[in-house]
Amino acid sequence: MKLFKIRGGVHPEGRKRLSAHKEIEVLPVPDLLHIPFRQHVGEPAEPVVQRGDRVLKGQVIAKAKGPVSAPVHAPTSGRVLAVGAFTAPHPSGLPARTIHILTDGKDEWGERMPTLDPDTASPAELAQRVADAGIVGMGGAAFPSSVKLNLGERYKLHTLVINGAECEPYLTCDDRVMRERSDQAIDGCRIMAKALGVEKVIIAIETNKPEAIETMTEAARDVADITVIGVPTRYPMGSEKHLVQTLTGKETPSGCLTADIGVVVHNVATACAVNEAVRRGKPLISRVVTVSGGAIAKPRNIQVPIGVSIESVLEYCGGTTEKPARLMMGGPMMGQPVADPRSPMVKGCNGILALTLEETRQRPASACIRCGSCVQVCPCGLVPLDMAARIRNEEIDSAVEIGLTECLSCGSCNYVCPAHLPLVQYFNYGKGRIKAIAAEKRKQEETKRLAEARIVRLEEQMRAKKAMLAKRKAEAEARAKAKAEAEAAAAGNDNTEAAAAGNDNTEAAPKAEAKTASNDNEKEEVQA
Ligand code: SF4
Ligand code: SF4
Repeated sequence: MKLFKIRGGVHPEGRKRLSAHKEIEVLPVPDLLHIPFRQHVGEPAEPVVQRGDRVLKGQVIAKAKGPVSAPVHAPTSGRVLAVGAFTAPHPSGLPARTIHILTDGKDEWGERMPTLDPDTASPAELAQRVADAGIVGMGGAAFPSSVKLNLGERYKLHTLVINGAECEPYLTCDDRVMRERSDQAIDGCRIMAKALGVEKVIIAIETNKPEAIETMTEAARDVADITVIGVPTRYPMGSEKHLVQTLTGKETPSGCLTADIGVVVHNVATACAVNEAVRRGKPLISRVVTVSGGAIAKPRNIQVPIGVSIESVLEYCGGTTEKPARLMMGGPMMGQPVADPRSPMVKGCNGILALTLEETRQRPASACIRCGSCVQVCPCGLVPLDMAARIRNEEIDSAVEIGLTECLSCGSCNYVCPAHLPLVQYFNYGKGRIKAIAAEKRKQEETKRLAEARIVRLEEQMRAKKAMLAKRKAEAEARAKAKAEAEAAAAGNDNTEAAAAGNDNTEAAPKAEAKTASNDNEKEEVQA
């Protein structure tokens, strides 16, 4: 299969030999697990258990909320100790909402999801199973996998790329998964291909993992339409867009997804998780992680339950030989420093590194010498020195104009900068500012929308009030009119009666006159 050259990239020292030969071990379930609601991109899950509840292994303890979210399951049986804030696996170390489980050592399964036969299940059923199992991208992105498996509904897809590049130094967990669980991985690839409706699957593995290439090739030998291919060992080969470009020669346009050019990328560990969810009804409650770095006593690849603390994992590896200069989650290029070793393992974490000072390559920064090395290695064709200068001057919009949002935060520019400028930190700060500005703008728009809605509501209330007053007035007038008419009618009746009475008087008058006349006559007769 022909490969295509891509721009930029660096060759950091791999340091994979520390753990690449270590078989996957299974960490015993600890007494206490801390399971954050948010372990994925999108809306955090919503807890469905409370303090004191007994939970069983695999039971949903927090349900997905919204279209981009993922449920969270209990990694073992035990009791919910509390639901509240706890230190988060994030450089800030700020607390995040977490479910704390006191484990009971029984590891008792709850009701398992029924197994699915991928040959008879529909693509929608397979994607739904992946959603129900809470599977997220296990290469570090942590994007809910079911959302990506549903992309066939909206895009014309033709290829599934399985990312087994594992280009970050130190990390070897995907390598071990491919070497030890190749059949599971290949079956997961087939299931995902069916869910996506694609017929072509390419499994890309960096050439520095010859055993993995060989094992996966052997496992895929009898499976039509799956190709295993070695790709150059060059960081950041694992970046989705660059991997797709290497394999297909097609560049994903700025602001687009690889799905726009017909390709979807999933991580190889995600493929294994999909296999377990479909074939065994098992949700994502554990993952394989590399524990390595110069300060680790016994580097290892370990299957750990989600929610175990980093310090427990380090302890299992014999602790540290010296105080680490930096403790990290993920790889050294794109990983995040860990502020608190009590932070829990999450679904997207593929590495725990305890690095010595020498390994961190920390040097005092000096002024940019405009050597252009950062420009040469940037895989996105950006000009890091200019972007950094604009961000330093708080000209965020201007940095966006020259591609800040295109930056992968891959750290290649940092790696080569002879002035040791913390370029990627500037870019992360700039991206944070973009988010903050967008959030502020959303807030202002929401406030404006609420204010406008209030004005409309008040106007409606005013209109309704006026209409009601007008109605009441009309009713009062109508009543008054009716009353007046009734009174007038009544008065009319009286008059009629009076008139009638008048008539009676009129008739009586001649009689009276006659009587008077007769009296007068009588008087005259008497006088006569
Ligand atoms: S690599 Fe460093 S010193 Fe060289 S141009 Fe870029 S920012 Fe400046
Ligand atoms: S961190 Fe950003 S600017 Fe630097 S090399 Fe990577 S993509 Fe380019």
